[in-house]
Amino acid sequence: MSKKKAAATLDPPASEGMSDAIFIKGARANNLRNVDLKLPKNQLIVVTGVSGSGKSSITMDTLYAEGQRRYVESLSSYARQFLGRMKKPDVDYIKGICPAIAIEQKVTTSNARSTVGTLTEIYDYLRLLFARVGKTYSPVSGEPVKKHEVSDVVDAMLARAPGTRIQLFAPLPYKYADRELGQELDLLLQKGYTRVEIEDELLDIQDLLENEDGRLAQKLGELEDTSILILVDRFAVKPEDDDHIRRMADSVQTAFYESEGECLVDVVGGERLAFNNRFELDGMTFLEPSPQLFNFNNPYGACPTCEGFSMVMGIDENKVVPDPGLSVYEGAIACWKGDKYGLWLEAFLNSAHLFDFPVHTPYQDLSKADRRLLWNGNEHFRGIREFFGELEEKTYKIQNRVMLARYRGRTLCSGCEGGRLRKEATYVKVGDHAIVDLVDLPIDELLYPSGAAHDEER
Ligand SMILES: [Zn+2]
Repeated sequence: MSKKKAAATLDPPASEGMSDAIFIKGARANNLRNVDLKLPKNQLIVVTGVSGSGKSSITMDTLYAEGQRRYVESLSSYARQFLGRMKKPDVDYIKGICPAIAIEQKVTTSNARSTVGTLTEIYDYLRLLFARVGKTYSPVSGEPVKKHEVSDVVDAMLARAPGTRIQLFAPLPYKYADRELGQELDLLLQKGYTRVEIEDELLDIQDLLENEDGRLAQKLGELEDTSILILVDRFAVKPEDDDHIRRMADSVQTAFYESEGECLVDVVGGERLAFNNRFELDGMTFLEPSPQLFNFNNPYGACPTCEGFSMVMGIDENKVVPDPGLSVYEGAIACWKGDKYGLWLEAFLNSAHLFDFPVHTPYQDLSKADRRLLWNGNEHFRGIREFFGELEEKTYKIQNRVMLARYRGRTLCSGCEGGRLRKEATYVKVGDHAIVDLVDLPIDELLYPSGAAHDEER
């Protein structure tokens, strides 16, 4: 391509940012001699030429190199430390270029866990994204899991109207197995606490201890499921008083310490707010997001059942249901046939009306929930898993071994349902999506994955 001839037509329009083409001017990587090139965007472009004509010099060493370099420069210094330094390609300029990725032509057999996402390294950026901005939600309540700092508690108190009276409590942790409760209360008294709350009643520790055979015994007799709250401090909200705010912070710190990470803010005559400085909610402890947590090539992040491979040896759904066009009634479940095993199907069909199972719907058209039900069973019938479980219990019977062998195959891991990551990683979401949901999407949907979260639950 002659540089002169091309230059006349190749100057990008003034508003090149909006342009629908990429302009390369004066590319000199390797043996290229000042090549100018205009490439339309959103098109599949094939670069051909004899060996040594500079195909990869213009595509990889110029175009991709610059796209990748600009992308990396746009990242924070934190993210950049995970990526190598990029060299600026030898070119006058490239305009209209977007962040770029390259999928190289290579034969790779090194890792059976590889996916397009990992080979292109897009997954590495997703991991960083989830580790940095991901929010953790409890699968029990759906509420965000937050680790509270002292300042969160103080801010919550200061958000109340000046003069609001507040009691700060610390739940007494149940760890005094070797110690009598009386001794524990005695210890609290020595530490300077005077009151505890038991069953919504504020009680004087001294009174409780002196009246051992009466109230304490009665109150604390069956204390297994009663919680004791230590009254740590009381104050009125004074947002202008720095000394007062410091005292609040000290008391919150103390409450966290006494309870091993929890405190309760009781707004007198109002609500009661719970805080904890552990990464916990709904009785579960969560893992703080890190790039390793989202790495299924790493034992820390990988699903423990399938070790990140997403498949395990098990009962193969395709073998159990070889013709998904059949309904359950028509015999879609191949293993539930014959005099003996057919009884399982009979039992299912006899109870299906109790939970409105669509027995005449082809297996392939059943909802995910119905299919899962068929496999897992319920209180009315025993599912396919239990059927095979029973066979496995009696593998000394040759016919059971034959049955198992017939239906065994590589199947989707039930631990992660093919997501490859440990459960905890799926509690972390960015814009409503877990990383395992994103990698499941076709690329065009991945661009705007708005509907994905509302699909059937996984
Ligand atoms: Zn798994």
